[in-house]
Amino acid sequence: MAEFDNIYSESDPFVRAHFDCLDCGGKLWEYAIQGRMVCEDCGALFDSDDVFDAQVEA
Ligand SMILES: [Zn+2]
Repeated sequence: MAEFDNIYSESDPFVRAHFDCLDCGGKLWEYAIQGRMVCEDCGALFDSDDVFDAQVEA
């Protein structure tokens, strides 16, 4: 069986993003592998691209 290095296996996949939830203003955590962010308060899930766009416009 082939072995390979999984670069994500030893790292916490959640990274605190420096953005606020678009719905409630809570802290967003980026789920880097999937390019998504999740709010720690309301649990809303966003695409990182959508959050970036919204912050740029604000
Ligand atoms: Zn929220």
